[in-house]
Amino acid sequence: DLLVIGSANADLVIGVDRRPGPGETVLGSDLAVHPGGKGANQAVAAARLGARTALLARVGDDAHGRLLLDAQRAAGVDTVGVLVGGAPTGVALITVDPSGDNSIVVSPGANGKLTPGDVRAAGSLFHASRVVSAQLEIPLETVVEAVRNLAPGTRFVLNPSPPRPLPPEVLAACDPLIVNEHEARAILGDAPLGDGPADWARILLARGPRSVVVTLGAQGALVASAQGVALVPAVLVDAVDTTGAGDAFTAALAWRLGQGDALADAAAYASRVGAAAVTKAGAQEAYPTPEEVAAL
Ligand code: ADP
Repeated sequence: DLLVIGSANADLVIGVDRRPGPGETVLGSDLAVHPGGKGANQAVAAARLGARTALLARVGDDAHGRLLLDAQRAAGVDTVGVLVGGAPTGVALITVDPSGDNSIVVSPGANGKLTPGDVRAAGSLFHASRVVSAQLEIPLETVVEAVRNLAPGTRFVLNPSPPRPLPPEVLAACDPLIVNEHEARAILGDAPLGDGPADWARILLARGPRSVVVTLGAQGALVASAQGVALVPAVLVDAVDTTGAGDAFTAALAWRLGQGDALADAAAYASRVGAAAVTKAGAQEAYPTPEEVAAL
């Protein structure tokens, strides 16, 4: 039902009292290694909800790559499209200070080697999918090729993260373009921002996507289409860790759209999934089952 095209990273996390300055060494906590990356996160989130999900991604022929593949398979993701080799698995080196602030260095590694040719070689995955969901932690030309390879009637969902300027061809395919506040501002660039998120949604919609979703954390999300702009309220929960909430939201939305939900209904479901995801620590580890979503 759902094909996710995107990144797979090992998140290497160390807690520190304070960050080292240039030339300095500090001691930190034990290392924690978590499967992550926006593509891998989305695939696990969707599969855990019960979606038939495949991932098109690239990892290295190394221990981190095996960790990521194991996590995908344990969640029930079809990993036939997870290619191995070409560079080391992508890594995010994360230090967390006592206030909970992160500093992150990302090495894209194999994610940077997922090519347009890899997309063309995955034609059967495209034909088997009602929805294709992508992000921007892989080369932009690979995302462009994905848009060109969509089967007739297949819906395309894009979370442009990390944000960068998008070609009109990609914007026009998005249904929806899903951005948080930071990504909305980055994509709008120097354009006048108007009076707030509803205006951002309208301005983004005028750039060509068929629909736009602006996620607003604990404030919920705005959905914008030719029918207008509507607020989907957030579900009130005790947030423990918001890491990966946007990926869970996007995966749930993409899957529900493929199942025939209207945009506002799919976003309401995705909002419940995002809320469930913030009630536990971590990203993939925190993604809910349908029972957990229903119990909110
Ligand atoms: P990102 O992780 O990309 O920055 P957001 O923080 O906007 O994305 O979160 C995505 C969605 O997850 C939100 O639109 C909302 O539905 C849900 N969500 C995120 N944080 C919370 C929260 N603290 N309480 C309830 N829902 C939340």
